Amino acid sequence: MDTNSTGQYNVVDARSVTEEFDKLFDKIFENKSNISVGDALRYEGWNPDTLLKQIVEWSKFNYFYATTSDRSSLPLLIAEYDQYKFEGESDFMVTDQRGYVSIAHCIAEPISNRIELGAVVTSIDWNDECFCAHVAGQGRVCGDYGITTFSIGVLQNFLENGQFNGTLSRRKIDAIKYSEMAVYHSISVGFPSSFWNTNTDIIYRTEARLGYYPVIDTSGKGIPGSPAIVLMAVTGDEAKRVSGLTKDEIYDEIMDVMRLWYGSDIPNATDIEYYDWYSDEFYRGMFSNIPLNLTLEEKENLAVPEGRLYVSGEGVMVYSTGTVHAAYCSGIDSATDILEKKGLSERSTFLPKCEDKTTPPSSAYSMRMSLITFIMTLFSLFLLLL
Ligand SMILES: Cc1cc2nc3c(=O)[nH]c(=O)nc-3n(C[C@H](O)[C@H](O)[C@H](O)COP(=O)(O)OP(=O)(O)OC[C@H]3O[C@@H](n4cnc5c(N)ncnc54)[C@H](O)[C@@H]3O)c2cc1C
Repeated sequence: MDTNSTGQYNVVDARSVTEEFDKLFDKIFENKSNISVGDALRYEGWNPDTLLKQIVEWSKFNYFYATTSDRSSLPLLIAEYDQYKFEGESDFMVTDQRGYVSIAHCIAEPISNRIELGAVVTSIDWNDECFCAHVAGQGRVCGDYGITTFSIGVLQNFLENGQFNGTLSRRKIDAIKYSEMAVYHSISVGFPSSFWNTNTDIIYRTEARLGYYPVIDTSGKGIPGSPAIVLMAVTGDEAKRVSGLTKDEIYDEIMDVMRLWYGSDIPNATDIEYYDWYSDEFYRGMFSNIPLNLTLEEKENLAVPEGRLYVSGEGVMVYSTGTVHAAYCSGIDSATDILEKKGLSERSTFLPKCEDKTTPPSSAYSMRMSLITFIMTLFSLFLLLL
């Protein structure tokens, strides 16, 4: 079934709106004020007063930061927008069946006998002499220095429950407190066969309830032999709401949306799969974002060691926030620093380096969305409202 034949919606060419958004988004990087991304966009003349404009902003911002532009800090956005030095301008679909985890296995292989999986740290303490972690069922494990790589969500929980037993500076406490984990659900939905438009990668729909299952990612279609699976994403408040639902309830919501979108004749989904990172006590969200309440100075303080305690992980990095390479580089930074403190700096030459290898793009904003054919779907209900 071709998507256009269902008669459930209109396909809209949104290029002029996306171009307008991109142009204004580029401009906000000149603004040095301590304001929200949303205010900076409005200052440049962006006025999301139509559902089409709202979904364009969602696709360009909320989809990546898992929050709204009004809740996001402009200085943090500018500071973190350095990811191209690692990534280049394009995203790639990797079809290697060993999966992403094989990279972690490869990196960890030389020290695999020193990694203890499944050990839960219940508290940490440190002083001028040493650093110790209390491990459930094992007691206190100590060393000269300690690096935590817990997510910001876990650190916030440690703070709330008094699990840091050492002197933490006020600036570190504030930095942890005002940081934020993004909540984002990527839900894989399997069908017996494809009935969506297979000529495009990503399909968005407008709806008065912005963010309610607004996107279908069909990019798996490019993989040879790929089954009929689409990814549907919800972010921010909608994602938190979805976290409180059962799998059956999410399934029903998705089927209702798909029927609105593609008509009542579509087959039932065979299954949905997702992982609730928000409810997992070892993550409490997917990755850190750029909240309005957190200043750039506070964010920079996250990575500053507190005596023998080093705090690493993606959440403490000012650039490339929320990415694997930020986590990787932050660990290398801490390890290098500790080796230097121990007078072993020559050993740090064996560590991989996180250097600037590519030239940032001329335009500050060229997310993968600009490469993707952008199709908007407007429900007949919405058309009636016009
Ligand atoms: C679904 C999803 C998709 C993503 N997609 C991408 C992507 O395409 N590209 C990208 O660059 N990034 C992506 N990210 C983000 C990326 O995975 C993270 O930024 C990165 O994994 C962060 O690494 P980290 O080491 O800082 O923290 P984590 O990966 O959170 O590692 C922290 C570790 O600490 C453990 N831990 C927590 N509490 C305790 C405790 N009390 N005791 C013992 N251990 C504990 C956790 O189990 C975990 O293993 C994605 C994230 C998710 C969830």
